[in-house]
Amino acid sequence: MPELPEVETIKNELLPHVVGHHITGITLFWEGIVRQLPVQEFCRHLTGKEITGITRRGKYLIFGLSSYDLWIVHLKMTGALIVGRDSAEPPRFTRAIIHLDNNTGIFFRDPRKFGAMWLANDTGDINRKLGPEPLEAGFTAHVLAERLAKRTAPIKALLLEQKLIAGIGNMYADEALFAAGIHPQRGGGSLSQEEVERLYGAIRRILWAAIGSKGASVDTYFRPDGSEGTAHFEFKVAHGLGGKSCTVCGGPIERIVVRNRGTYFCPRCQAQP
Ligand SMILES: [Zn+2]
Repeated sequence: MPELPEVETIKNELLPHVVGHHITGITLFWEGIVRQLPVQEFCRHLTGKEITGITRRGKYLIFGLSSYDLWIVHLKMTGALIVGRDSAEPPRFTRAIIHLDNNTGIFFRDPRKFGAMWLANDTGDINRKLGPEPLEAGFTAHVLAERLAKRTAPIKALLLEQKLIAGIGNMYADEALFAAGIHPQRGGGSLSQEEVERLYGAIRRILWAAIGSKGASVDTYFRPDGSEGTAHFEFKVAHGLGGKSCTVCGGPIERIVVRNRGTYFCPRCQAQP
């Protein structure tokens, strides 16, 4: 699933292709990708509008429009936005094409069809669902400690809670906990101040590094030009490294299930206290 670094990369790399351009039409191969009825109204509203900017909040892409409202995209499990020549053969699993006035198309590719797009007047609904942005200056170790205090749920599950902290998913939660040396099943409120500070530093470091590597191309993530990111080459535990050895202690990486999510960790480096 695209997480903060993947969505940030998509935003950064789409920007030069789309900002200042008008949407000339929309081709839908699967109407269900529009989560707003009637679908024709969505297409009619977007057509003719200029894209004035793109921002990211959590895992949401937010396109500013010349009509002062917003076109929102969530890639969910397997979505990708590929830019290409409008007349090109659409990539396999393309569910929609947003045509632009520069002979470019944005191809919304989504094998599993969980991805979604809709229109909104503002970001109020999104902001209500999301906690702080982990890479913004206002997010400090103190803020993280406050949000974890008194929480008994496993820290792994809490990191995935978008209302607690925005943008982190299964891969980067596992990586951050490994880097901080914290067992994924520890209760959030049980972390010491020092552990929270380690976790805070790990989250920031790992997310920034992954943005620098243009995201992790496990499964179906592609950059807008169709190429792959390389962040997964740096993964120590995440995503299927079960059976491999820990780069720190040499012991086996193990897989457990925490609140229904497959979780990889090193039982020696991330021992329960
Ligand atoms: Zn280890």
